[in-house]
Amino acid sequence: QFHTIKYEDLKWDESLGQGSFTRIFKGEKTDYRDGEKHTTEVLLKELDPDHKNCWESFFEAASFMSQISHKHLLHVYGVSVHGDKNIMVQEFVKHGALDLYLKREKSLSVSWKLNVAKQLACVLNFLEEQSIIHGNICAKNLLLVREEDPSQGISPFIKLSDPGINVAMLGKDVIMHRIPWIAPESLAAPDNLTHECDKWSFGATVWEIFNNGNPPLQGWSLEEVKLKEKFYENKQQLPPSQWTELADLIGQCMSYDLAFRPSCRSIIRQLNSLVTSGNNVSLNHVGKVF
Ligand code: ATP
Ligand code: MG
Repeated sequence: QFHTIKYEDLKWDESLGQGSFTRIFKGEKTDYRDGEKHTTEVLLKELDPDHKNCWESFFEAASFMSQISHKHLLHVYGVSVHGDKNIMVQEFVKHGALDLYLKREKSLSVSWKLNVAKQLACVLNFLEEQSIIHGNICAKNLLLVREEDPSQGISPFIKLSDPGINVAMLGKDVIMHRIPWIAPESLAAPDNLTHECDKWSFGATVWEIFNNGNPPLQGWSLEEVKLKEKFYENKQQLPPSQWTELADLIGQCMSYDLAFRPSCRSIIRQLNSLVTSGNNVSLNHVGKVF
């Protein structure tokens, strides 16, 4: 099913912290090709021993990521098993997660954000064509491969990371924290992910990107989870962008009625028309679209 990598061929370097159910390290992978030794910088994601029972789901994510290839999809080299350690070996991305980058770089332009949103739409479309549902799209799971350099005409470049453990395996509390990225219908039926769920998450992620990585509905005081639950119960919407066309697109994606969520083709068309009219967005919109 998937490529396995010998534990002995992995070198572990510094810790990069923790994911939801993982410990994350920088490292190196060694290959022997044509009698020659090659080393590749990698990211090692070790499944938390407390979630050992989820290894199948974790490896399922690794498996689909390693079987398909797209320029905006993170490359997964394979998995490694050693004793009770389950490790996903993936491409190391220099500039890390997009949510942190957005928070750090406060003055990213509207065209930067649109460009990144278009790249996400591109990989979303690819996944749908392959009949693959991601299930965990958010800015944290977008990685920045290349920074923008306007003086050299270089645009930013992102890749979508793996979804991790399937939502169907997660506890209610974890699911609640995924509001508003998780589609509302998934609360009742977490084992019934659809392409429409990814469309909702796409909308929430675009909102997040244009709001400089500030997580929607976070810091809503003590009763955060309760408020989040109410948010869905009352069919509320995130505060709309002042940029009407963008607000429209996010609103369509985050529609409580699945039938109103747009096709990937429509998403791409709308984003492209935003780019052209983006030239007309007055400068005082920049940085405070919301
Ligand atoms: P989840 O399944 O919820 O997404 P996770 O295990 O994937 O959890 P994240 O929280 O997504 O963990 O990632 C944790 C941090 O690890 C990110 O903020 C990022 O800085 C870093 N990171 C993750 N993947 C990579 C990668 N391929 N290259 C470089 N850094 C990465
Ligand atoms: Mg992740």
